[in-house]
Amino acid sequence: MIAAVAPYSYRYDQPLARYTSFRIGGPADLLVEVNTREELDRLIGYCERERIPWLLLGRGTNVLIKDAGIRGVVVQLGPDFNRITVEGVNLRAGAGAPLALVAETAARYGLSGLEFASGIPGSLGGGVYMNAGAYGREMKDVVAGAEVYHLDAGFTSLNREGLTLGYRTSSLQQSRGILVEAHLQLTHGDEAAIRAEMKALNGQRREKQPLELPSAGSVFKRPVGAFAGRLIEEAGLKGKTVGRAQVSPKHAGFIVNLGGATAGDVLALIEEVQTEVERCTGYRLEPELRILGGE
Ligand SMILES: Cc1cc2nc3c(=O)[nH]c(=O)nc-3n(C[C@H](O)[C@H](O)[C@H](O)COP(=O)(O)OP(=O)(O)OC[C@H]3O[C@@H](n4cnc5c(N)ncnc54)[C@H](O)[C@@H]3O)c2cc1C
Repeated sequence: MIAAVAPYSYRYDQPLARYTSFRIGGPADLLVEVNTREELDRLIGYCERERIPWLLLGRGTNVLIKDAGIRGVVVQLGPDFNRITVEGVNLRAGAGAPLALVAETAARYGLSGLEFASGIPGSLGGGVYMNAGAYGREMKDVVAGAEVYHLDAGFTSLNREGLTLGYRTSSLQQSRGILVEAHLQLTHGDEAAIRAEMKALNGQRREKQPLELPSAGSVFKRPVGAFAGRLIEEAGLKGKTVGRAQVSPKHAGFIVNLGGATAGDVLALIEEVQTEVERCTGYRLEPELRILGGE
């Protein structure tokens, strides 16, 4: 039946570990890649009519998918959602485009503003949804608007205000809107200087972050007035291990998969970190990563 609404690419019982940077996650009942807006509309309409749960997965770099996997349909945006065009200081890109590629394209056109994003491994859609940020900059600084799909409203344009981008939040998190394209406003700059900045920031990343092991980046949001990594260190949890999941000895804000970690290991470690940090410092850490799937 799904073939009628999404004729191109679908797979049953697909283990999602291979679609996440954590290399963790049970199977999706059905994984569907959509390649056009019409396919997306037909698929989501079908799921809603048939009461089949669905969720959109970007590049899977900010998610922890539970071991039991995801019931219903996991939707991915195919290559047709990766297009990038540049006109003056305006860059438009499909939501599936990797942020690193969007930043690289901006650099090639001598456009500044996305240097901070060149080392963030997610998609543009995930970046806007999470209002991803680093080194004092965030997507909010460059996003001028977006094209968003909602089942009841179809494809509509949202301006910056409509996206209500805040610290790791956007209106998409409440509305269940699917971002299909974003419009970024950048500034003219010098290509060599832009590339030098990207290189320097990515060097800092390699030095400070455990990029050699699977992870989902920073696990916890930054609490007001403190840094999650520092609080975790203060609580003596650097290197703490549950099963095959470990608080990274290199950067305590990351949990890494030592190989064969389960979502259960990571969830138990998250809980232990929350409890211990609260006991030692009074701060309650809240996860930044999205925990998806059932028991
Ligand atoms: C090594 C490493 C370093 C990282 N560094 C940073 C960093 O410096 N700063 C930072 O902010 N993050 C960082 N991250 C986290 C992550 O890369 C970002 O949050 C990224 O923006 C997530 O994009 P994604 O495509 O992987 O989204 P996913 O992880 O696939 O999804 C995250 C959420 O976004 C939703 N989503 C994805 N695409 C769309 C869309 N098109 N429309 C609507 N909803 C969508 C999903 O449903 C899900 O709820 C890092 C992660 C890793 C592994």
